[in-house]
Amino acid sequence: MNFEDFKLSKEILNAIYKKGFEKPTVVQEKVIPLLLSRKKNLIVQAKTGTGKTASFGIPLIELLEPQKNIQAIILTPTRELALQVAEEINSLKKRNLKILPIYGGQSINYQINHLKRGVDIVVGTPGRVLDHIERKTLDISKVSYFILDEADEMLDMGFIDDVEKILKNTPENKFFLMFSATIPQRIVYLAKKYIKNYEVIKV
Ligand code: AMP
Repeated sequence: MNFEDFKLSKEILNAIYKKGFEKPTVVQEKVIPLLLSRKKNLIVQAKTGTGKTASFGIPLIELLEPQKNIQAIILTPTRELALQVAEEINSLKKRNLKILPIYGGQSINYQINHLKRGVDIVVGTPGRVLDHIERKTLDISKVSYFILDEADEMLDMGFIDDVEKILKNTPENKFFLMFSATIPQRIVYLAKKYIKNYEVIKV
């Protein structure tokens, strides 16, 4: 399979090749078409290093038009991963899509100023995201995509209750995508409680 097979726009294909990606990885072959078609919510069992970030980054960039409204929220367990994910999406991005990492340890006023100017994709850690929601400086009530990265790490680090609170602030009709290296019971419980009609993919 080649990246051409996904019928992506030229702009994104160029960005993919510019990054030096020659062929899609296994997780990309599976996730990219499913996310592009938005048919089903997904739980993907995949480890870091499998190309999972681009598997959701590529379709997100293809599907979103710059609106300066938050259209997608991606949660990661650590600030390092939030920065890494934001950087990977930025390196693939088209036109004027605005991607903002928000994480604890960085000035909250700096983040508020950027949020006020308008953002399309937020990549954040659960504690800081919840802090912004509670301050009403972040509105995720209209997101189209909710992506949970490294869900099992979220659980291990004690963030799963925050994740659940954040989920409650998202609309029912969003597309839900979760990545986890393992799928513990608590994660299945969370998915069953909030997500209807999902498929589990093992890579
Ligand atoms: P990830 O699993 O998302 O952390 O990705 C691991 C690394 O693989 C990152 O440095 C990506 O930039 C890189 N990568 C992702 N997709 C591909 C691909 N199709 N070909 C080559 N490298 C890739």
